Amino acid sequence: MAKKEKEIDVRFSKFGTVSFTSTTKVNDFMDRLEQGKVSGNRCKDCGKVYFPPRADCHNCLGNNMEWFDVTGKGRLVTFSKLEYAPVGFENDIPYSIALLDFGDYKVFGRLAGDIPENEIKVGMEMKVVRNELPNGQLNYVFQKA
Ligand SMILES: [Zn+2]
Repeated sequence: MAKKEKEIDVRFSKFGTVSFTSTTKVNDFMDRLEQGKVSGNRCKDCGKVYFPPRADCHNCLGNNMEWFDVTGKGRLVTFSKLEYAPVGFENDIPYSIALLDFGDYKVFGRLAGDIPENEIKVGMEMKVVRNELPNGQLNYVFQKA
């Protein structure tokens, strides 16, 4: 009897400059990102909202999750410009990491590289957009709303 090869779902290896996690239980995130959607998820049992998406709800320990798209405007909570980068990200510097507040959840990510520094202000409204990197990898960035 031939041993059946285990199927490995590596969709997440396409995420970001360097993907440290190629396999997750929330790989549908990548299909949605390919379609231009940046997604979090929500527990259908208790309503807890997650970004990044989680396979299981730590609030009620259920796994009855549904996707939602990050849309509309978030407020810039904080940001930091990186002049030094972790291994694998050396060619990306300088870039700015940031946190947007959407009310029920927050989204951590990067500021789009084409925003003039003097226009970046804590409290400003921003939106999340899918971004394709030069090597074909995908991520998302924050742009002025
Ligand atoms: Zn829950």
